[in-house]
Amino acid sequence: MRLLVLPGDGIGPEITAASLPALRALSERFKLNIEWKEDIVGHASLAKHGTTVRPDLLEAARNADGLVLGPTAAFEFKDQINPSMFFRKKLDLYANIRPSRTYDGVKAPAGAFDLVVVRENTEGFYADRNVESGGSEMLITPDVVVSLRRITRQCCERIARAAFQLAQTRKKHVTVVHKGNVLKLGDGMFLEECHKVAREFPGLTVDEIIIDAMMAHAVRNPARFDVIVTTNMFGDILSDLTAELSGSLGLAGSVNAGDSHAMAQASHGTAPDIAGKNIANPFSLVLSMALLLGWHGRRHKRQAFIDAEAALDKAVEAAVAAKEATGDVGGKLGTRETGAALAARLAK
Ligand code: ATP
Repeated sequence: MRLLVLPGDGIGPEITAASLPALRALSERFKLNIEWKEDIVGHASLAKHGTTVRPDLLEAARNADGLVLGPTAAFEFKDQINPSMFFRKKLDLYANIRPSRTYDGVKAPAGAFDLVVVRENTEGFYADRNVESGGSEMLITPDVVVSLRRITRQCCERIARAAFQLAQTRKKHVTVVHKGNVLKLGDGMFLEECHKVAREFPGLTVDEIIIDAMMAHAVRNPARFDVIVTTNMFGDILSDLTAELSGSLGLAGSVNAGDSHAMAQASHGTAPDIAGKNIANPFSLVLSMALLLGWHGRRHKRQAFIDAEAALDKAVEAAVAAKEATGDVGGKLGTRETGAALAARLAK
């Protein structure tokens, strides 16, 4: 498996450097033959190449079997490309899979749970990706802004299918989260497509919850959820909440998956408040890599990769329980030391 690794900004370089030894140890243990090439995006690329993403990186990403992208400082790039948006849009990575679960030994404010948010990734209320060219936010007068939200039947259908397929491998329940009472056309279509796809999966149960009520339900009883499917921005916000309920954003792994490409990317941002201090939790990126390996294994029917995904999840779980982890999850180790300890655990 050939990967393109782009460490990004803020805590990106340190969590990437800490995660790669664990990936190497896993590759050796399961004979995965994973190789990677590192390159730069974000501030490092802007300083060196005058752009946050070189156009040739797209070809490199297309030729790789997977991408690993660290968090990038999109908010700081005024007239520059947002690297995360760039790869999600150009590679059509329509399903952002964001698992959240609690861990033994980590305080969870709402009790134990294990769920996955499946977030549509290519349209919705995202001004930088829902039109072919330009942005979909317009300054009509200096005091009037119009922001457009695009919802298409095709994107609703494919994200629904991704969610139902995932639920089939889990607890067989899907919750559709929407705001159909207000966004009657857009979320109406989303609901329609979700229920249409649901008919192809008669063994699964489905319910639907309005996004605002969902915030209360997620905090009150997250254990009742299995797979949650929703549109882009609702999924972005909801998955930060579920990550925090799991104990720390530092445990929030995610993968952006399409039909032929996928990109591991932690759910959190650049965390400038802790960058450069060797205290950021690398497990978010490690767990994202695990999801990427699983995606690759299922796509190419290579069981070793599916087994490696499970082993990496288990190793993180054991490391957290043993406090071989960073302070956000109750450990006493630094970022580098956490990565090294995980690699050693995997090599055993
Ligand atoms: P950005 O502007 O890039 O979105 P942010 O700080 O606004 O950055 P996040 O990076 O998502 O947003 O961080 C939110 C909070 O979670 C911060 O307090 C941050 O320190 C914490 N956090 C995020 N990632 C980690 C991590 N890997 N380990 C520990 N804490 C983290």
